[in-house]
Amino acid sequence: MADKKDVILSGIRPTGRLHYGNYFGAITHFLRLQEQDVNRFYFVADYHALTTIQERRDISAQTIHMLRTYIACGLDPNESIIYRQSDLPSTAELALLLGMITNIGHLERGTTYKDKLGQIQSDPKQTGNPLSYGLLGYPVLMAADILIVKADIVPVGDDQRQHVEMACDIATKFNSRFGETLHIPKPIARNALRLPGLDGSSKMGKSENNTLDLLDDEKTVLKKVKGVPTTTEPSPLGTDSNTPDDVIPLMPPGVGVLFRLLDLLAPAEVFQEFLQEYRDQGKFYGNLKKSVAQHVSEFNAPIIERFNDPALDDAHIQDILRTNAMKVSPIALDTVEACREAIGIGRSLYRA
Ligand code: ATP
Ligand code: MG
Repeated sequence: MADKKDVILSGIRPTGRLHYGNYFGAITHFLRLQEQDVNRFYFVADYHALTTIQERRDISAQTIHMLRTYIACGLDPNESIIYRQSDLPSTAELALLLGMITNIGHLERGTTYKDKLGQIQSDPKQTGNPLSYGLLGYPVLMAADILIVKADIVPVGDDQRQHVEMACDIATKFNSRFGETLHIPKPIARNALRLPGLDGSSKMGKSENNTLDLLDDEKTVLKKVKGVPTTTEPSPLGTDSNTPDDVIPLMPPGVGVLFRLLDLLAPAEVFQEFLQEYRDQGKFYGNLKKSVAQHVSEFNAPIIERFNDPALDDAHIQDILRTNAMKVSPIALDTVEACREAIGIGRSLYRA
């Protein structure tokens, strides 16, 4: 029998415009996997967006915008099944079943939940209801996303590592309690990226107001890059290594982001030239920022052009979503029905 093809699954929340963290943490892997003989599923995580978006917003339009950017980045909708999470409501049913075997203590150790709790404790005047049941249960819904399509590989950034591990734990627990039912994915790659924010904080994020976006024009890029905090003088690195992964973590945070962007976008010799200037402790931040801004703008230009292609209209994107929802739905229902049977509820009486 021929080996089963690996199943790839990854999602992005429609919480804002796609940024460099999304691109180099996730999309770049989607593009690489496009060259391989695998089954690819990518979704726009509109249910997940609701842990952040707490008032009415046109999430449907934001979803279309995000998909248009996916395609502008080079993701071929004919090569991957790209769908909207909420078009697969059986995910919510699976999340409900998985929630029954997930301990609250396990969820309270989730980093997204803990970070939010920390923010609220340091600023109790925050508005809205950021500590929702949905936020605590985020990893359960994400486990359902992954397990429902029987994913093998989950290409995500380092910030999602713990959530993927939780999905594996939940599936293992389900199987040990109810018999082998759920397919367990592989752990995420060790070298997964976590791109810091332009403000020097540990993570660039759509909801953090610290992003460099794929659709930023030249003027915006220059303004954002100039604003990266570089007041700290270069300090000795304490290593002879010239490898980006060795030296960048030793730099002041803002400077580290600039060097990371150079590492991702510029030829290696440009990185090494600026690294030498860093070691020489010269005044080079102005030139460094100019060079980073230029490489970013060159990278963005073709993406912006494809994004504005009139052929990529909303109706066409809606069509892709509709067709793909129909393709992924039977796979999802098969998983949910298997779980229902394993638990003993039995198959649904209204689904054929
Ligand atoms: P939000 O702030 O609303 O959570 P986000 O910027 O974190 O948005 P997500 O939609 O949560 O983006 O994540 C989409 C994908 O991008 C995930 O695979 C995630 O791991 C990856 N990703 C997000 N931010 C970064 C980052 N700074 N570095 C590397 N990967 C990232
Ligand atoms: Mg996120």
